[in-house]
Amino acid sequence: MKPLTIKITKAFTFDAAHFLPEHDGKCSAMHGHTYRLEVSVARTDGQLIAAGPSAGMVIDFFHLNQLVKEEIIDKVDHAILNDVFSFRTTSENLACHFYQVLSQKLGAQGVRVAKIKLWETPTSYVEVGDE
Ligand SMILES: [Zn+2]
Repeated sequence: MKPLTIKITKAFTFDAAHFLPEHDGKCSAMHGHTYRLEVSVARTDGQLIAAGPSAGMVIDFFHLNQLVKEEIIDKVDHAILNDVFSFRTTSENLACHFYQVLSQKLGAQGVRVAKIKLWETPTSYVEVGDE
């Protein structure tokens, strides 16, 4: 039997404005979303921390929360995304960017980003991940 992978997920919301230049619909005009961001992570070995203050965890939820707040939420909440990023601010591009930023920061701690799920509306989301 394949060994189990243990993943944890933390969810966040942020409010942001953006527009998509040259979009042939309403999205070419400035508008806002309440985005929901779900970050799922696992240890690179799929297992748990063996010893120390975080024993039995993938990563402390507190630390994951702090990292995502500092690296993402603080930069995008109540911001105009077109001013923050040089890329076209589709949900797909945003999710890929968040995946890269967090993968870089977490890699050194033996943690990988298993999935980024970014909800642009209550009925529309993008998933980026390694599985
Ligand atoms: Zn939009």
